[in-house]
Amino acid sequence: MAIQRTFSIIKPDATKRNLTGKIIAKFEEAGLRVVAQKRIRLTLAQAQEFYGVHKDRPFFDELCEFMISEPIVVQVLEGEDAIAKNREVMGATNPAEAADGTIRKEFALSIGENSVHGSDAPETAAEEIAYFFSGLEIVG
Ligand code: ADP
Ligand code: MG
Repeated sequence: MAIQRTFSIIKPDATKRNLTGKIIAKFEEAGLRVVAQKRIRLTLAQAQEFYGVHKDRPFFDELCEFMISEPIVVQVLEGEDAIAKNREVMGATNPAEAADGTIRKEFALSIGENSVHGSDAPETAAEEIAYFFSGLEIVG
């Protein structure tokens, strides 16, 4: 597998509880490098666009309100097989189903407030990275 880049968000429940360092450490321990990072606050329109794929799901409004409730940290992670590795370190969407040692098992509060986002495929990784970062902001 080649070196890949993927997009990651440290979500409001985690920034609120001052967990950014502990979460970044999990990525670094797994061999992923942070090659771009910033702390931002999403607008409602940005949250709705970012999660547009879920717009017909019953949890969509709740999800968007949650994503704008506190600052988030957006980042690009780089490494061998980074897209799959990031999803592995994150753990299952529902923390009750997440494996031991994963971020969501250790830190998530619920299926909605689950501490991290990670791209699910090369196409979404490329789109999500480009939405938040210019090429000049990514330094490998
Ligand atoms: P993942 O973040 O693991 O890729 P999804 O893409 O399925 O998961 O969902 C996006 C986000 O929507 C989840 O991370 C979570 O914050 C929220 N979410 C998913 N399912 C539910 C649910 N049943 N109830 C509330 N929020 C949910
Ligand atoms: Mg997803």
